[in-house]
Amino acid sequence: MSKNFYLGIDWGGSKIALALTDGSNAILWRTGGESGRVADYKDALKRLNNLIERGADCASENGGEIAAIGCAVAAQIRADDGYILGAPNLGLTDVPLADDLSRITGISTIIENDVNAAAFGEYGAAPDDGDPFLAVFVGTGVGGGLVINGELYRGAGGSAGEIGHIPVQPLGAVCGCGARGCVEAYAGGAAVGKRAKAALDFGRAEKLRETGYDEHLPNLSEIAKAAEAGDPDCTLILEEAEYALAAGLATAVNLLNPATVVLGGGVIEGYPAFADAVWRRAGAMMLPSAAMDMTMRKSVLWSDAAPIGAARLARRAL
Ligand SMILES: [Zn+2]
Repeated sequence: MSKNFYLGIDWGGSKIALALTDGSNAILWRTGGESGRVADYKDALKRLNNLIERGADCASENGGEIAAIGCAVAAQIRADDGYILGAPNLGLTDVPLADDLSRITGISTIIENDVNAAAFGEYGAAPDDGDPFLAVFVGTGVGGGLVINGELYRGAGGSAGEIGHIPVQPLGAVCGCGARGCVEAYAGGAAVGKRAKAALDFGRAEKLRETGYDEHLPNLSEIAKAAEAGDPDCTLILEEAEYALAAGLATAVNLLNPATVVLGGGVIEGYPAFADAVWRRAGAMMLPSAAMDMTMRKSVLWSDAAPIGAARLARRAL
């Protein structure tokens, strides 16, 4: 009998990653590359299918075939039929992506929001993970995903877990969502970079300038280095980011009483000490009863979380 393999895809606005798994967290083969806004949907499907066919060749060389495909997309999706309602980073609106990929590849395909897929990938990736499970990812923005009773919790309209848009400063900085004072407006990688750049533009953040970071958006690791060197502007930006994310986490923990909370995403991967500082601050804001039996950890799968989670969701959907 031939073996079943599962292909996980993470289709984001700047990168696409494919990973072939046997349904566990081990990746047998991977490929990927740059992506971007989709100019021609049919052409994008064709190119995606070419990559999938290479994964199918690898499955065949290993004595099996791809039994299901899970595609994580930075998009608002309709979970029951894998329909993309809107994916602004990809420039896609109203496309039946799951149906189209299933038809083109001849393989059963499911679609999931990328943050949800990453949360599902992280769920159970460490041995003592518990349920309810909350994963928070800090990248350009701040996103979160929930697993409750072993299932992704999507909410009534699919927008559960939006921890990045919990308001922590009622009259604070304007967020990308249009509201004020969201966690993301202080702790997201883009927001942190813009705040540091604004300080540089006003002749502030001297220590950051000394290290030569005035030509691009500084990242949190660079800002933290300048803060450590005694830069007051960078210290403020870093502390505001820590407080905002800690307040968002404490809000989520007090509401949900999760067994496990995971911090992941590119910003944490690039500057892991941020997670430790956030946990320290969050500890002072959480109800002791809500935090008592909770374990907190950093991501173990990092950028593999979304493709692995998508592959596992595809396997379960068969
Ligand atoms: Zn917001």
